[in-house]
Amino acid sequence: MRLYNTLSGHTEEFTARDGEALMYVCGITPYSDSHLGHAMSYVIFDTLRRYLEYRGLKVKHVQNYTDIDDKLIARAGREGVPMDEVAERYIREFERDTAALNILPAHIYPRATQEIPAIIEMIEGLIEKGYAYPSQPRDGSSDVYYRVEKKADYGKLSKRSLDSMLSGARIEPLEGKENPMDFTLWKGAKPGEPSWDSPWGPGRPGWHIECSAMSLRHLGKQIDLHGGGLDLVFPHHENEIAQTEAYTGEAPFSRFWVHNGFLQMGEEKMSKSLGNLITMREAIDRFGPDGVRIFILGSSYRKPLTYSEEAMAAAKVAAERLRVAVTCEDGGTGDPVDGAPYKERFIAAMEDDLNTSAAIAVLFDLAREINRARDAGRAVGEAQSTMRELAGVLGLRLEAADESLAAAPFVDLLIELRKELREAKQYALADRIRTGLAELGIVLEDGAGGTSWKSA
Ligand SMILES: [Zn+2]
Repeated sequence: MRLYNTLSGHTEEFTARDGEALMYVCGITPYSDSHLGHAMSYVIFDTLRRYLEYRGLKVKHVQNYTDIDDKLIARAGREGVPMDEVAERYIREFERDTAALNILPAHIYPRATQEIPAIIEMIEGLIEKGYAYPSQPRDGSSDVYYRVEKKADYGKLSKRSLDSMLSGARIEPLEGKENPMDFTLWKGAKPGEPSWDSPWGPGRPGWHIECSAMSLRHLGKQIDLHGGGLDLVFPHHENEIAQTEAYTGEAPFSRFWVHNGFLQMGEEKMSKSLGNLITMREAIDRFGPDGVRIFILGSSYRKPLTYSEEAMAAAKVAAERLRVAVTCEDGGTGDPVDGAPYKERFIAAMEDDLNTSAAIAVLFDLAREINRARDAGRAVGEAQSTMRELAGVLGLRLEAADESLAAAPFVDLLIELRKELREAKQYALADRIRTGLAELGIVLEDGAGGTSWKSA
């Protein structure tokens, strides 16, 4: 397929070197509810993966959890609980919501806190090669910085030179840096924050090094595709490239860099800091998983996507239209509808830089023909299975509304009540909730980070 590569600035033929595409997608920082902007990114990369697999390519997909971070530390502090408890809670939510959205799970979900030795090893290697240096120690620990001037092609992904970055940047105090653009690989410990022992004293990894180290450890020196939101191009992905290529001595770190556009609320980006969020859960509850996917895939993945209630509602209705066409009873035995030309058009659209909006348009054309043909007494069974197959490539289930999904907020409420009952040592009542839910087909699972549930 042809895919736009941010690194080259061109649309290129995507191939995997060894029949298996190695794909790394930057994951979430689990410090609060995931929102529709996250859904957008993960639905897009899920659809890309599904399509590559549909075309017979094996894909190995790694996606990290940044489970050590300033925002996580702050949240844990406010709640008075350990950081890993907060991370565990939002990782569970993310897994629940992405499963509801029919997003295939990554093959490996490395967590920063579980990869510290690999991260330290990489930083040590960068220091040895002259690409990194520790700052003056204070209170027995140092920061470690990456030396951007040493990497001659620093800026090649975001297409900027070091000079232009410097002139555009706010002049910040160097704080032990040789160059204001040098970025942090390791942060010396601050009192009260989680830290790990290292050759530079206690501290914790910076954000960028985490992805380089995990990608190297789980996928090797060079990968085929690295994905994430457009906001990650600089500095995050630029810095990943700098770190990995300096450490391994091989370039490019990733052959393809694929970025999705922002989700916007009106003129603004949907983000936690702006407080204009629609959570994944809310979107799924209101518009259904297929509705959310159709909304996201209904426009170009590289362009900004603007949220509106009307567009979401229209996507929900559209999903229902497809569902009716794919599940309707066969019209008869006469002159069967041929799905093959639709399949060809669908594939041609997807080959063209993942043109999902054109692919969805093909599904609607096919739905229309199925509806007309059925009314005319023609056989539509085969066309329906083609349609189901193609919808599956877009991750659409086209099933009747899931009752258990609508019940989700009530189940969550009961779980909360059960927790409070247990804390009050009202074990009989707490167990009554568990057994009552079990009778309704809802199974509770208690874990270190809280209770999760699934419908049996
Ligand atoms: Zn990353």
